[in-house]
Amino acid sequence: MASLGSRKATSEIIQKYRFDFRKKYGQNFLVDKNILDKIVAAADISRDDCVLEIGPGIGTMTQRLAEEAGEVVAVEIDGNLIPILEETLSGYDNVTVIHDDILKVDIEDIAKRHGGRPMKVVANLPYYITTPIIMALFEKRLPLKSITVMVQQEVADRMGVGPGTKEYGALSLAVQYYARPEIITKVPAACFMPKPNVDSAVVRLTRYDEPPVEVEDERWLFTLIRASFNQRRKTLANGIANAGIGIGRGQVEDALAVTGLPPTTRGETLTLKQFADLSNALCGQRR
Ligand code: SAM
Repeated sequence: MASLGSRKATSEIIQKYRFDFRKKYGQNFLVDKNILDKIVAAADISRDDCVLEIGPGIGTMTQRLAEEAGEVVAVEIDGNLIPILEETLSGYDNVTVIHDDILKVDIEDIAKRHGGRPMKVVANLPYYITTPIIMALFEKRLPLKSITVMVQQEVADRMGVGPGTKEYGALSLAVQYYARPEIITKVPAACFMPKPNVDSAVVRLTRYDEPPVEVEDERWLFTLIRASFNQRRKTLANGIANAGIGIGRGQVEDALAVTGLPPTTRGETLTLKQFADLSNALCGQRR
Protein backbone atom coordinates (compact mmCIF):
# COMPACT_ATOMS: atom_id res chain seq x y z
CA MET A 1 0.00 0.00 0.00
CA ALA A 2 1.40 3.38 -1.02
CA SER A 3 1.88 5.88 1.76
CA LEU A 4 -0.98 8.28 2.40
CA GLY A 5 -0.72 11.88 3.56
CA SER A 6 -1.28 13.73 0.30
CA ARG A 7 -4.56 15.20 -0.89
CA LYS A 8 -4.40 12.95 -3.97
CA ALA A 9 -3.84 9.67 -2.07
CA THR A 10 -6.60 10.56 0.42
CA SER A 11 -9.08 11.41 -2.39
CA GLU A 12 -8.35 8.11 -4.12
CA ILE A 13 -9.12 6.08 -0.97
CA ILE A 14 -12.23 8.13 -0.21
CA GLN A 15 -13.55 7.54 -3.74
CA LYS A 16 -12.60 3.87 -3.87
CA TYR A 17 -14.62 3.11 -0.71
CA ARG A 18 -17.29 5.78 -1.41
CA PHE A 19 -16.58 7.06 2.09
CA ASP A 20 -18.85 9.83 3.41
CA PHE A 21 -17.23 12.16 5.96
CA ARG A 22 -19.23 12.25 9.17
CA LYS A 23 -19.32 15.63 10.81
CA LYS A 24 -20.59 14.14 14.08
CA TYR A 25 -17.28 12.28 14.44
CA GLY A 26 -15.15 15.36 13.73
CA GLN A 27 -13.69 13.83 10.56
CA ASN A 28 -11.11 16.19 9.08
CA PHE A 29 -8.28 14.13 7.65
CA LEU A 30 -4.75 15.46 7.56
CA VAL A 31 -3.43 15.90 4.01
CA ASP A 32 -0.10 17.61 4.61
CA LYS A 33 3.09 15.53 4.79
CA ASN A 34 5.09 18.34 6.35
CA ILE A 35 2.70 18.54 9.34
CA LEU A 36 2.69 14.74 9.65
CA ASP A 37 6.50 14.83 9.88
CA LYS A 38 6.30 17.49 12.60
CA ILE A 39 3.80 15.51 14.70
CA VAL A 40 5.77 12.28 14.48
CA ALA A 41 9.05 14.09 15.27
CA ALA A 42 7.48 15.88 18.25
CA ALA A 43 6.19 12.58 19.65
CA ASP A 44 9.80 11.32 19.68
CA ILE A 45 8.94 7.69 18.99
CA SER A 46 11.37 4.79 18.97
CA ARG A 47 11.08 1.00 18.56
CA ASP A 48 10.79 0.77 22.36
CA ASP A 49 7.49 2.66 22.32
CA CYS A 50 3.90 1.51 22.27
CA VAL A 51 1.75 4.26 20.74
CA LEU A 52 -1.96 4.74 21.28
CA GLU A 53 -3.56 6.57 18.36
CA ILE A 54 -7.04 7.98 18.87
CA GLY A 55 -9.11 8.16 15.67
CA PRO A 56 -6.83 6.82 12.90
CA GLY A 57 -9.27 7.85 10.14
CA ILE A 58 -7.99 6.21 6.93
CA GLY A 59 -4.64 5.42 8.60
CA THR A 60 -2.52 8.30 7.33
CA MET A 61 -0.69 8.95 10.59
CA THR A 62 -0.96 5.31 11.67
CA GLN A 63 1.33 4.27 8.80
CA ARG A 64 3.94 6.79 9.89
CA LEU A 65 3.65 5.75 13.54
CA ALA A 66 3.99 2.05 12.63
CA GLU A 67 7.24 2.82 10.82
CA GLU A 68 8.76 4.40 13.95
CA ALA A 69 7.19 2.57 16.93
CA GLY A 70 7.46 -0.95 18.30
CA GLU A 71 3.66 -1.23 18.47
CA VAL A 72 0.67 0.93 17.58
CA VAL A 73 -2.85 0.51 18.94
CA ALA A 74 -5.40 2.63 17.07
CA VAL A 75 -8.96 3.11 18.35
CA GLU A 76 -11.53 4.18 15.72
CA ILE A 77 -15.25 4.70 16.36
CA ASP A 78 -16.48 4.73 12.74
CA GLY A 79 -17.17 1.21 11.42
CA ASN A 80 -17.03 2.51 7.81
CA LEU A 81 -13.33 3.21 8.28
CA ILE A 82 -12.42 -0.30 9.47
CA PRO A 83 -12.26 -1.94 5.98
CA ILE A 84 -10.24 1.04 4.75
CA LEU A 85 -7.79 0.64 7.64
CA GLU A 86 -7.50 -3.08 6.82
CA GLU A 87 -6.23 -2.10 3.40
CA THR A 88 -4.05 0.90 4.28
CA LEU A 89 -2.39 -0.87 7.22
CA SER A 90 -2.06 -4.30 5.61
CA GLY A 91 1.68 -3.88 5.22
CA TYR A 92 2.33 -3.47 8.96
CA ASP A 93 2.40 -6.31 11.49
CA ASN A 94 2.79 -4.07 14.53
CA VAL A 95 -0.61 -2.31 14.36
CA THR A 96 -3.81 -3.32 16.16
CA VAL A 97 -7.01 -1.51 15.20
CA ILE A 98 -9.79 -1.51 17.79
CA HIS A 99 -13.26 -0.54 16.60
CA ASP A 100 -14.61 1.34 19.62
CA ASP A 101 -15.25 4.69 21.28
CA ILE A 102 -12.09 5.95 23.00
CA LEU A 103 -14.20 7.19 25.93
CA LYS A 104 -15.58 3.67 26.50
CA VAL A 105 -12.62 1.44 25.76
CA ASP A 106 -10.53 0.16 28.69
CA ILE A 107 -7.22 1.90 27.96
CA GLU A 108 -5.61 0.49 31.07
CA ASP A 109 -6.30 -3.00 29.78
CA ILE A 110 -4.81 -2.06 26.38
CA ALA A 111 -1.67 -0.85 28.16
CA LYS A 112 -1.45 -4.09 30.17
CA ARG A 113 -1.87 -6.24 27.07
CA HIS A 114 0.95 -4.36 25.40
CA GLY A 115 3.57 -4.95 28.03
CA GLY A 116 2.38 -2.47 30.70
CA ARG A 117 5.05 0.05 29.70
CA PRO A 118 4.06 3.72 29.66
CA MET A 119 2.49 4.55 26.30
CA LYS A 120 2.70 7.62 24.11
CA VAL A 121 -0.56 9.00 22.81
CA VAL A 122 -0.51 10.57 19.36
CA ALA A 123 -3.68 11.84 17.68
CA ASN A 124 -5.34 14.27 15.39
CA LEU A 125 -8.23 14.55 17.82
CA PRO A 126 -11.90 14.78 16.91
CA TYR A 127 -12.56 18.34 18.06
CA TYR A 128 -16.03 17.70 19.50
CA ILE A 129 -14.55 15.68 22.37
CA THR A 130 -11.00 17.02 22.76
CA THR A 131 -11.39 18.13 26.38
CA PRO A 132 -13.15 14.97 27.68
CA ILE A 133 -10.50 12.80 26.00
CA ILE A 134 -7.56 14.70 27.49
CA MET A 135 -9.17 14.88 30.95
CA ALA A 136 -9.95 11.13 30.82
CA LEU A 137 -6.40 10.24 29.78
CA PHE A 138 -5.01 12.16 32.73
CA GLU A 139 -7.60 11.47 35.41
CA LYS A 140 -7.68 7.70 34.83
CA ARG A 141 -4.03 7.73 35.89
CA LEU A 142 -3.01 5.73 32.84
CA PRO A 143 0.61 4.85 32.30
CA LEU A 144 1.42 7.59 29.76
CA LYS A 145 4.70 9.28 28.90
CA SER A 146 3.37 11.99 26.64
CA ILE A 147 0.38 13.09 24.63
CA THR A 148 1.07 14.71 21.26
CA VAL A 149 -2.15 15.94 19.73
CA MET A 150 -3.65 18.16 17.08
CA VAL A 151 -6.33 20.36 18.64
CA GLN A 152 -8.12 23.58 17.74
CA GLN A 153 -5.81 26.58 18.12
CA GLU A 154 -8.12 27.99 20.79
CA VAL A 155 -7.88 24.79 22.86
CA ALA A 156 -4.09 24.77 22.50
CA ASP A 157 -4.04 28.33 23.87
CA ARG A 158 -6.23 27.31 26.83
CA MET A 159 -3.80 24.56 27.83
CA GLY A 160 -0.84 26.86 28.37
CA VAL A 161 -2.29 30.01 29.94
CA GLY A 162 -2.21 31.12 33.57
CA PRO A 163 -4.55 33.17 35.81
CA GLY A 164 -6.05 36.45 34.66
CA THR A 165 -6.72 35.49 31.03
CA LYS A 166 -10.13 34.69 29.59
CA GLU A 167 -8.86 31.35 28.25
CA TYR A 168 -7.81 30.17 31.74
CA GLY A 169 -10.03 27.42 33.13
CA ALA A 170 -10.40 23.80 34.24
CA LEU A 171 -8.55 22.46 31.17
CA SER A 172 -5.54 24.75 31.77
CA LEU A 173 -5.30 23.61 35.38
CA ALA A 174 -5.74 19.89 34.61
CA VAL A 175 -3.11 19.98 31.88
CA GLN A 176 -0.65 21.96 34.00
CA TYR A 177 -1.16 19.71 37.03
CA TYR A 178 -0.26 16.59 35.07
CA ALA A 179 2.04 17.76 32.30
CA ARG A 180 4.26 20.38 30.71
CA PRO A 181 2.41 21.76 27.66
CA GLU A 182 4.24 23.03 24.54
CA ILE A 183 2.79 24.26 21.27
CA ILE A 184 4.81 22.53 18.53
CA THR A 185 3.35 24.17 15.45
CA LYS A 186 0.30 26.00 14.20
CA VAL A 187 -1.66 24.24 11.47
CA PRO A 188 -3.80 26.15 8.95
CA ALA A 189 -7.28 24.79 8.13
CA ALA A 190 -6.13 24.14 4.53
CA CYS A 191 -4.05 21.16 5.73
CA PHE A 192 -7.21 19.07 6.23
CA MET A 193 -9.84 17.40 4.09
CA PRO A 194 -12.55 18.59 4.40
CA LYS A 195 -11.31 21.99 5.54
CA PRO A 196 -12.52 22.83 9.09
CA ASN A 197 -13.75 26.30 10.09
CA VAL A 198 -10.90 26.90 12.53
CA ASP A 199 -7.12 26.75 12.54
CA SER A 200 -5.39 24.10 14.63
CA ALA A 201 -2.18 23.51 16.53
CA VAL A 202 -0.08 20.53 17.52
CA VAL A 203 0.54 20.37 21.26
CA ARG A 204 2.86 18.09 23.20
CA LEU A 205 2.01 17.37 26.84
CA THR A 206 4.92 15.75 28.64
CA ARG A 207 3.73 14.00 31.76
CA TYR A 208 5.38 15.00 35.05
CA ASP A 209 6.77 12.21 37.21
CA GLU A 210 5.33 14.09 40.18
CA PRO A 211 2.72 16.89 40.01
CA PRO A 212 4.19 20.36 40.65
CA VAL A 213 1.95 20.93 43.72
CA GLU A 214 1.07 18.78 46.72
CA VAL A 215 -2.55 17.69 46.93
CA GLU A 216 -4.23 15.45 49.50
CA ASP A 217 -7.00 14.27 47.19
CA GLU A 218 -6.68 14.78 43.42
CA ARG A 219 -10.33 14.00 42.68
CA TRP A 220 -11.41 16.60 45.18
CA LEU A 221 -9.02 19.18 43.66
CA PHE A 222 -10.69 18.74 40.27
CA THR A 223 -14.20 18.71 41.74
CA LEU A 224 -13.36 22.06 43.30
CA ILE A 225 -11.77 23.42 40.12
CA ARG A 226 -14.78 22.47 38.00
CA ALA A 227 -17.13 24.03 40.55
CA SER A 228 -15.01 27.21 40.57
CA PHE A 229 -15.29 27.71 36.81
CA ASN A 230 -18.93 26.67 36.41
CA GLN A 231 -20.12 30.15 37.22
CA ARG A 232 -17.35 32.43 36.05
CA ARG A 233 -19.21 35.64 36.86
CA LYS A 234 -19.64 34.77 40.53
CA THR A 235 -17.07 34.98 43.30
CA LEU A 236 -15.28 31.73 44.05
CA ALA A 237 -17.14 31.38 47.37
CA ASN A 238 -20.57 31.75 45.71
CA GLY A 239 -19.64 29.52 42.77
CA ILE A 240 -18.49 26.68 45.03
CA ALA A 241 -21.44 27.10 47.43
CA ASN A 242 -23.88 26.89 44.47
CA ALA A 243 -22.22 23.80 42.99
CA GLY A 244 -23.72 21.38 45.54
CA ILE A 245 -20.43 19.72 46.47
CA GLY A 246 -20.96 19.92 50.25
CA ILE A 247 -19.12 23.18 50.94
CA GLY A 248 -20.80 26.42 52.03
CA ARG A 249 -19.84 30.01 51.20
CA GLY A 250 -18.50 30.74 54.69
CA GLN A 251 -16.17 27.74 54.56
CA VAL A 252 -14.64 28.94 51.28
CA GLU A 253 -14.26 32.47 52.64
CA ASP A 254 -12.53 31.17 55.77
CA ALA A 255 -10.17 29.00 53.73
CA LEU A 256 -9.37 31.96 51.46
CA ALA A 257 -8.64 34.13 54.51
CA VAL A 258 -6.14 31.56 55.81
CA THR A 259 -4.22 31.78 52.53
CA GLY A 260 -4.40 35.61 52.64
CA LEU A 261 -7.00 36.00 49.88
CA PRO A 262 -10.07 38.29 50.09
CA PRO A 263 -13.64 36.83 50.18
CA THR A 264 -14.37 38.44 46.80
CA THR A 265 -11.67 36.35 45.04
CA ARG A 266 -12.69 34.93 41.65
CA GLY A 267 -11.68 31.47 40.46
CA GLU A 268 -9.89 32.74 37.35
CA THR A 269 -7.36 34.65 39.49
CA LEU A 270 -6.11 31.60 41.42
CA THR A 271 -2.89 29.81 40.47
CA LEU A 272 -2.63 26.01 40.52
CA LYS A 273 -0.75 26.26 43.84
CA GLN A 274 -3.55 28.38 45.34
CA PHE A 275 -6.18 25.88 44.14
CA ALA A 276 -4.11 23.09 45.69
CA ASP A 277 -3.94 24.97 49.03
CA LEU A 278 -7.67 25.68 48.94
CA SER A 279 -8.50 22.06 48.14
CA ASN A 280 -6.27 20.80 50.99
CA ALA A 281 -7.91 23.28 53.39
CA LEU A 282 -11.44 22.21 52.40
CA CYS A 283 -10.72 18.51 51.95
CA GLY A 284 -11.83 17.37 55.41
CA GLN A 285 -14.78 19.78 55.62
CA ARG A 286 -17.16 18.26 53.05
CA ARG A 287 -20.65 17.56 54.35
N1 SAM B 1 -6.03 10.54 12.25
C1 SAM B 1 -6.74 10.87 11.04
C2 SAM B 1 -6.00 11.94 10.30
O1 SAM B 1 -5.16 12.60 10.93
O2 SAM B 1 -6.25 12.15 9.12
C3 SAM B 1 -8.20 11.29 11.33
C4 SAM B 1 -8.37 12.44 12.27
S1 SAM B 1 -10.03 13.01 12.40
C5 SAM B 1 -9.78 14.67 12.98
C6 SAM B 1 -10.66 12.28 13.90
C7 SAM B 1 -10.87 10.77 13.85
O3 SAM B 1 -11.35 10.33 15.13
C8 SAM B 1 -11.88 10.28 12.84
O4 SAM B 1 -11.38 9.15 12.17
C9 SAM B 1 -13.11 9.91 13.69
O5 SAM B 1 -13.94 8.93 13.10
C10 SAM B 1 -12.44 9.42 14.96
N2 SAM B 1 -13.27 9.51 16.18
C11 SAM B 1 -14.23 10.43 16.46
N3 SAM B 1 -14.75 10.21 17.68
C12 SAM B 1 -14.10 9.13 18.18
C13 SAM B 1 -14.21 8.40 19.40
N4 SAM B 1 -15.08 8.75 20.36
N5 SAM B 1 -13.41 7.32 19.59
C14 SAM B 1 -12.52 6.94 18.63
N6 SAM B 1 -12.38 7.61 17.44
C15 SAM B 1 -13.15 8.67 17.23
